[in-house]
Amino acid sequence: MTEHTTNTGRTEQTGHAGRSGHAGGPGHAPGGADAYEVVVVGGGAAGLSAALVLGRARRRTLVVDAGEPRNAPAAHMQGYLSRDGMSPAEFLATGREEIARYGVELVRDRVVDATRDGGFAVALAGGRTVRARQLVVATGLKDELPPVEGLAERFGRDVLHCPYCHGWEVRDQAFGVLATSPMSVHQALMVTQWSKDVKLFLHTVGEAELSDEDLRRLAAAGVDVVPGEVAALVVEDDRLTGVRLAGGGTAADGTVHARQVLFVAPRAVPRTGLLARLGAETTETPFGRYPVVDGRGLTTVPGLWAAGNASGFAEQVVNAASRGYRAGAAINGELLTADLDAAVRV
Ligand SMILES: Cc1cc2nc3c(=O)[nH]c(=O)nc-3n(C[C@H](O)[C@H](O)[C@H](O)COP(=O)(O)OP(=O)(O)OC[C@H]3O[C@@H](n4cnc5c(N)ncnc54)[C@H](O)[C@@H]3O)c2cc1C
Repeated sequence: MTEHTTNTGRTEQTGHAGRSGHAGGPGHAPGGADAYEVVVVGGGAAGLSAALVLGRARRRTLVVDAGEPRNAPAAHMQGYLSRDGMSPAEFLATGREEIARYGVELVRDRVVDATRDGGFAVALAGGRTVRARQLVVATGLKDELPPVEGLAERFGRDVLHCPYCHGWEVRDQAFGVLATSPMSVHQALMVTQWSKDVKLFLHTVGEAELSDEDLRRLAAAGVDVVPGEVAALVVEDDRLTGVRLAGGGTAADGTVHARQVLFVAPRAVPRTGLLARLGAETTETPFGRYPVVDGRGLTTVPGLWAAGNASGFAEQVVNAASRGYRAGAAINGELLTADLDAAVRV
């Protein structure tokens, strides 16, 4: 029996029903109570999916989760077949129940360091150090929002980043798009699929930065281009009602443009500190710096895996879950092969 703390804050005793590891079989993780075959850092869709397949494969698995999933600001999770519209909190609570059925342990804590020592030694903020033969980093990413007054408070409500996540729910409303790079043109064109009333606020992007092709496409899509910096959002009765431009006697003259929804492009900062510390290679992409992984999620460091938003930008919940599952299944295969090879050598 193993003691662990659940995400409800309770401490429970959990058996590892049916697992061969405790008898010293193929699932055995040598090294005592704090030794696991797999430690998963992050208990979002990616981490829980990896844990589910590993638990069902009878691998002694620990999930360490700080409990701050990326989509926490949103009331609903859209676009996950059979889970469309479920709350993110309910989705994760269901996942935690599912992994517990297979004896996977989950602690609410934060991994603060990890070192390689044949396997991995993983340090938790709470003071515990656990050992793992294989380590999965499913820590997600942080959305850095443009510093516009009133914007952060509305994120996930009527300040949105992804039309696939929220477009249907706000269809045909008055949209704004806050430009923070010339790539925002693409976002403005994209959201016209959900509303024909779209204004592109150039904000920090100069008019000269838009190409002739951009301008032709924006005109063809009926997008109104508004030069000038955005100063603040106007919120009434807890709803976005407008976008106020900065003053200063220029084209940006403090005018308020009535808008119900504002699309933004947060800077995605993947939480890859642990991967970097362990020596995993990263590569620059148009969406930020991400770890180099193979099709299964294995990084350039043996035994070290990445899944979900920590491994790639355009990972909706269903993709993150899929990546986690794929990594979990691959890890089980790796452990099996390693143990069989070791047995042959003996
Ligand atoms: C506002 C908003 C709304 C969204 N809506 C949708 C939607 O409707 N549909 C959709 O498909 N996608 C949506 N997304 C995208 C969705 O949030 C991601 O696809 C999904 O969360 C990625 O899952 P993940 O497991 O990779 O990361 P996350 O869900 O972010 O989970 C990562 C977990 O790791 C934990 N963690 C991080 N560092 C550590 C550490 N050092 N130690 C321990 N734990 C750690 C975090 O606390 C977190 O619990 C939305 C995103 C945002 C921002």
